[in-house]
Amino acid sequence: MIRRRLLIKCAVIAAICVLAAGCLRWLPWTSSPSLSARAAAPPTTEPAASNPPVQSAEIADGNSETTATDDPAASKPPGSPKVLLTASPRRGNNPIDGARSYEYLKQLCALGPRASGSRGMAAQQKLLADHFEKLGAKIHWQKFTIRDPRSGQPVEIANLLVEWHPERKDRILLMTHYDTRPFPDRDPNPRKAVSGTFIGANDGGSGTAVLMELAHYMPDLKGPYGVDFLFLDAEELVYEEKRDRYFIGSEYFARDYVANPPAYRYKWGVLLDMVGDRQLQLYQEKNSAWWDDTRPLVEEIWGTAHRLGVREFIPQRRYEVSDDHQMLHNIARIPTCDIIDFDYPVGPGGRFWHTEADTPDKCSADSLAKVGWVMLEWLQTTR
Ligand SMILES: [Zn+2]
Repeated sequence: MIRRRLLIKCAVIAAICVLAAGCLRWLPWTSSPSLSARAAAPPTTEPAASNPPVQSAEIADGNSETTATDDPAASKPPGSPKVLLTASPRRGNNPIDGARSYEYLKQLCALGPRASGSRGMAAQQKLLADHFEKLGAKIHWQKFTIRDPRSGQPVEIANLLVEWHPERKDRILLMTHYDTRPFPDRDPNPRKAVSGTFIGANDGGSGTAVLMELAHYMPDLKGPYGVDFLFLDAEELVYEEKRDRYFIGSEYFARDYVANPPAYRYKWGVLLDMVGDRQLQLYQEKNSAWWDDTRPLVEEIWGTAHRLGVREFIPQRRYEVSDDHQMLHNIARIPTCDIIDFDYPVGPGGRFWHTEADTPDKCSADSLAKVGWVMLEWLQTTR
């Protein structure tokens, strides 16, 4: 009996222990791996409310008088307190003019929709050609004609290549698509989805604006590499998702690179797509991080951002995105990564991606300046 009672007592105690342990796992301070992984992401990005207004953001990031660096040997005059007050000491050194970048973005959007073959696209092509030639680049057009997938009419497609330091034989390709989708087909309003106006501030405009700004720094670019900017047309001359082809411009460029190899090779390619979001969150795109030949590139770029204190580059993989980089990587064999904020589609104010709401107010000077800075620093330090 005693033994039996003891056994029952032991069994009851053991059961209580198991139950208690089980309950503890559900208490709020313990979390399952998936919960902690989810919880880890948000704090890496600044909430919208803390984003300073555009102008003051530029004062803080572009023209700050703080001279702090990570170099402990750098001598600081006694009593220069701003250095100590800066949370991210190197942030103030951003040479990129965010206000000017944002002006470029607004200028592009003011041209209206810029779908392949449209009036807006023709105006944009003139604007870009003037801009880059004025700053000393050599430009080349790669033109070809396709049929519009809806009307069957011919559409002239034009990729634009902007060449800096053509004498340098080792080169890097920075690219973006500069066409905008013909219609905002994900707009929540069904009428707008088929006949509305798509401005593409972030999707088409932001990468273009960053490259327009970076052009100012290219003539004095340090480092061994020459740089080409590539503006890809017909990334999304798409009316119907399942019927129409994406990436027509990048596929053409990649096939031509193979068929008519230039005298130089591109060591790296970097695609900028949707990089102007006010609430910028640049996770690593999964293909870019999976491919063996692009993983080191991803690590270098996110490493550069970390060194500069640009926390919007989040060193975690998040989305697998089909984009122009696949053509450059898979056909041209240029190791090319995609820098894309794919959290842009749904924002606190609604859905922005492929809707009428993709307008300049969803983007910020601060975001454009940060992406430009990481690119500029990486271009000058990569070997
Ligand atoms: Zn798009």
